[in-house]
Amino acid sequence: MGLGSLFKRKKKEKKEEVVEDCHIEINTDECDACEKCATACPNNVLIIVDDASTVRDPQVCKSCRVCMAICPNDCITVS
Ligand code: SF4
Ligand code: SF4
Repeated sequence: MGLGSLFKRKKKEKKEEVVEDCHIEINTDECDACEKCATACPNNVLIIVDDASTVRDPQVCKSCRVCMAICPNDCITVS
């Protein structure tokens, strides 16, 4: 009985998990506007503006780091 109520409480706590805001930094000096990050981002967070990748909407970033992994010039840092 005691264990049963413990499991129920754990389930409730999981539901209240909070998604933290992410922070994206782009080294525009190294960016050659290849668009790989913008194309790969599943949430359309990045676009190319003035020959460099630019954060369009940080609110929709899910911190998946696909952009970081795909950039050939290591321009992107997601924290
Ligand atoms: S971390 Fe993921 S969601 Fe955020 S900008 Fe990069 S690819 Fe898009
Ligand atoms: S993948 Fe890297 S080099 Fe290419 S546009 Fe994005 S930030 Fe720039």
